[in-house]
Amino acid sequence: MNNDHRFSSDELLKILSLSPNATAIYTTNQLIIQTANDAMIALWGKDRSVIGQRFEDAIPELKGQQFIGLLQNVLKTGRTYQATDTPATLRVKGKLQTSYFDFIYRAIKNENGEPYCILHTATDVTERYLNQQTLANAHKTSEALTREQALNEELAATNEELNAINEELKNAQDKLQLLNAELETRVTERTRALTQSESNFKNMILQAPVAIGLFNGHDMVLDMINDKFLELWNRDQSIIGQPLELALPELKDQPFLKIMQGVYNGGPSYFGNEAEVKLQRKGKLETGFYNFVNHPFKDDQGNTTGIIVVASEVTDQVNAGNKVKASEQRLHNMVMSTPINMAIFEGRDLIVTIANLSMLNIWSRTAEQILGKKLLEIFPELIGQPFPKLLQDVFDTGKRVAISEIEVDIATAEGTKHLFVNFSYDPLFNQAGEVESILASVVDITDMVNARKQLEESEAEQLALNEEITAANEEMAATNEELYATNEELSETQLDLQDTINKLAESEGRLRYMLADAPIAIALMTGRDLVVEAANKMVLQAWGKDDSILGKPLKAAVPELAGQEFLTLLDEVFVTGVPYYGNEVKALLEQNGVLEEVYSNFVYHPLKNDDGQTVSIVLVANVVTEQVVARKKVEEAEEKTRFAIEAANVGTWFLNIETHEFVISPRLKEQFGYYANEDVSYEQVSSQIPEDYRDKVLNAIADAIATGRDYSMEHPVVGFHDQKTRWLRALGKLYPDATGKLSHFSGLIIDITEQKQDEMRKNDFIGMVSHELKTPLTSLSAYAQMLHARAQKAEDNFSAGALEKVNTQVKKMSTMINGFLNVSRLESGKIFLSKHDFALDDLVQEMIADTMLTIASHTITLTCAEPLAVHADRDKIGSVLSNLLSNAIKYSPRGKNITVECKAEGNMALVSVTDEGMGIKAHDIDRIFDRYYRVESNHTQTISGFGIGLYLCAEIVQRHDGQIGVESQSGKGSTFYFTLPLN
Ligand code: ADP
Repeated sequence: MNNDHRFSSDELLKILSLSPNATAIYTTNQLIIQTANDAMIALWGKDRSVIGQRFEDAIPELKGQQFIGLLQNVLKTGRTYQATDTPATLRVKGKLQTSYFDFIYRAIKNENGEPYCILHTATDVTERYLNQQTLANAHKTSEALTREQALNEELAATNEELNAINEELKNAQDKLQLLNAELETRVTERTRALTQSESNFKNMILQAPVAIGLFNGHDMVLDMINDKFLELWNRDQSIIGQPLELALPELKDQPFLKIMQGVYNGGPSYFGNEAEVKLQRKGKLETGFYNFVNHPFKDDQGNTTGIIVVASEVTDQVNAGNKVKASEQRLHNMVMSTPINMAIFEGRDLIVTIANLSMLNIWSRTAEQILGKKLLEIFPELIGQPFPKLLQDVFDTGKRVAISEIEVDIATAEGTKHLFVNFSYDPLFNQAGEVESILASVVDITDMVNARKQLEESEAEQLALNEEITAANEEMAATNEELYATNEELSETQLDLQDTINKLAESEGRLRYMLADAPIAIALMTGRDLVVEAANKMVLQAWGKDDSILGKPLKAAVPELAGQEFLTLLDEVFVTGVPYYGNEVKALLEQNGVLEEVYSNFVYHPLKNDDGQTVSIVLVANVVTEQVVARKKVEEAEEKTRFAIEAANVGTWFLNIETHEFVISPRLKEQFGYYANEDVSYEQVSSQIPEDYRDKVLNAIADAIATGRDYSMEHPVVGFHDQKTRWLRALGKLYPDATGKLSHFSGLIIDITEQKQDEMRKNDFIGMVSHELKTPLTSLSAYAQMLHARAQKAEDNFSAGALEKVNTQVKKMSTMINGFLNVSRLESGKIFLSKHDFALDDLVQEMIADTMLTIASHTITLTCAEPLAVHADRDKIGSVLSNLLSNAIKYSPRGKNITVECKAEGNMALVSVTDEGMGIKAHDIDRIFDRYYRVESNHTQTISGFGIGLYLCAEIVQRHDGQIGVESQSGKGSTFYFTLPLN
């Protein structure tokens, strides 16, 4: 080949196109494919038609890949671009596929050094590239494997570690769960105990034979009110929830609401003793007497939220006149019997005067060890603890101190006891309002606090473990978180449980508190043997025992019960589970070594376990011996009276003046001529009294009812069936009911027919004899006067004197006989008044002058201020005056003065005769105007008389529409007076 031969462009292109290397030439800025050999066209996956097209039109799939930019850059800069293993994605046989290329874009320049076309050569290196790639990957994998193995080993180690930790965690969790379960059991147990205790207390309160109630807020809204209270009020459940004023409006003018509000507003507890309470019962206001206690009821913070009232009715006791014990004794009893730990410290020296059983328990001391001693001497360990200062503060301020959950150390024989307690110190004031002593109440909450502390500790432990685990491993952290969540749940449960416990404890405390003041006997006996678990002071008192019986079976504790019905009854309650109620049951119990009758109202209440089996029995009792004995005495007396009345053949009646209920005995019916078994009304009875007596009888009854004076009457009746006339003496009186109000009129009727007949015969006889005696006496008097005149004339002084005495005696005798005659006339209705107008003052003067003629032993003074004109029987009024004057002389010692006064009072004339004599005792005054009534005394025995003078006076004055009466003081003198209507 000739070296000088220059190839034309076409020739060059031809040669190029034969090259096995893919080659192409692009010209101008448009990158027109000037030429491309078959290898290049195959590589592109196109055909020869691409020659002459723009590069980007010919191979459109290259748009977005780097090549067009690279080509333009080469053309612009003239710098050749070379690359290996470059991927290019081309459409070959209709499919897009990526292959790898080594290629060169070489710039071909003209003489001026300007690039005018690009020579593109390329080699498909896809296979090599992929092989290389596979190799590289294989290498990488082997390296990775090595690394992985190392890692695995490391992981295994970690895993083992984690497993260990995990196990630990698991253990911790198990422990926690165990602890929790234990806690839960304990809480459940405590809850059960509290629930049981609460229900016991609730039962006790609801069934207590005394009234117990809780009143909330200033308005005293009725909250928990037991049946006894409702019964006492005569109300039903519907009043619960109402304020007291609305529920019991009758209390409005009574002091109780104020007293309760006083206690509510911070005042001290109030003890009412035999307080008189008026309650609306069965439609009327009834008065009763009650012992009661008003106690503030407080919440956890010590704020008073209500008042607890415990009341028991003592109306019977009060009515029977029994005195209730002093209030100190009650306070003592209250403290001693309460199940709350209580003690009283007196004075700033804090002398322990009272401490109840439960307090002694907490202190681990016996009563002898502490009573009468100073608190700080008993418990020197308290010095340095906060209590002595708090107690002195109560003395200084008079304010209550209460603290929750405080730790106390108490030295006991077994070492120091650490306790957690809630306590309060309440000041007790004397009359002057100074703090005299302090009531300390303590609630032992050690168990509760310990349980809570354990819970807190376990929570802390758990938290520490959790932190460790979180650091160690995320997976473990997750586990831990789970555990934590579980724990949280558990502690939430705990809190819930704690809350329940608190609520229950509060409720239980509240109930305990209520019982504390109840003046009732309460005991708890467990098992079929009835082991006495608890017994408050009242029970021990009733049994006549001390607390040494605690823990013994009832049979051994109170041996005198053997042979009485109680042990059998209790056993029945235990076996059947049915409560037993006893009302006024008599028990023989040893009191100070002697068997005595004790009466009580009580309930045996069975307490059951979850299976419904009785486990113990609560005894709640109210000792009512005094009431029962008092009532029995009354009943016995009544019985005796009834026997006596029946034996004496006396009729009795009862008339309720409000309801007009009329009850009469069979004997009374017979007295009125009815049959013993027929029903007879008040009207029927009255209609058997003859008309001329009937009004008098009915008026006397009406008068007795209106004035409350005794009713006493003698009157005939004509028998209903037999038409027989009988004389009856009726006696009656107005009697009070239980509230003290005079409400019924009752009494008895005695058949006096025979006496009456005797009397009438006697009267007739006396009348006849008196009448017969009058004639001889008149002539005797005349002769005596005649002889007297003669003797005077003959100056026979002795005879004149003797005959004057005869005259006086005859006068006395005729007065007496006149008296008898008058009585007999009066009785037979044959006394007549012959009335005239005359001056009463003149008559008085005359009668005094007459009397003065015969006696010289007394002086008589008359004061008569004005003339008194009356229309009356002058003789009979004269005899009244003479009677009063002669009595005044008869019943007062010689030398005494007698004062007579007459005056007008309104439209009546009043005459009074006052003496300075022996006077008349109050109980005789009422009967002094009765026929034949004489005061019986050593003194009057020696004074002659028949007891008919005043009877006649009264009859005469009454028949003149006047009144007669006496005012007298035994030993000082009497004033007899009578009135007559003025003209
Ligand atoms: P007698 O005939 O007994 O005096 P009276 O009917 O006059 O009967 O009096 C009844 C009783 O009243 C007397 O027995 C007496 O005990 C008492 N009595 C009457 N007047 C007086 C008086 N002035 N002072 C004291 N007692 C009197």
